[in-house]
Amino acid sequence: MEVLIYPNPILKCKAKSVEEIDEEICQIAEAMLDTMYDACGIGLAATQVGLSKRLVVLDVAGKKTGERVFVNPYIVEEQGEAIEEEGCLSFPGLSGKVMRSQSVTVIAFNLRGEKLKIEAEGLLSRAWQHEIDHLNGILFIDKMTPASMIANKQKIKEFELVYHDNNASF
Ligand SMILES: [Zn+2]
Repeated sequence: MEVLIYPNPILKCKAKSVEEIDEEICQIAEAMLDTMYDACGIGLAATQVGLSKRLVVLDVAGKKTGERVFVNPYIVEEQGEAIEEEGCLSFPGLSGKVMRSQSVTVIAFNLRGEKLKIEAEGLLSRAWQHEIDHLNGILFIDKMTPASMIANKQKIKEFELVYHDNNASF
């Protein structure tokens, strides 16, 4: 499984809901966890590996235990505001400040089909908002503060040049 790098157009697509939690979904989730840990990430959305499924893996503490796979997650409540630095596996080496809600409440299902209600704040809240944005085709540069955007303008341009060089057609 490979993480798609910006500006791959698939990253801009809105993912479809998972209709049934079957063997295929479990296998995809397993592979996504491996991919996330290999890349030293704390979260990964299925859209980042080219799959149009509302599926997220998340392990902010990096403990490799507990509930880490989430199906069809959505935010039901958000509170406050916080600006912090964040990065993204689809933008290796790039980071910038993004305004997010301070805390969020997320509803999602685990692989056993059980409904979960997650109250998140701080880094976990930020990670949730970042991953759910991915499922909706929204990238963190779309929400970066103007100052961070200016600071990263050249790096973002380089991602675009590399991508177009690698995908040139004649
Ligand atoms: Zn990301």
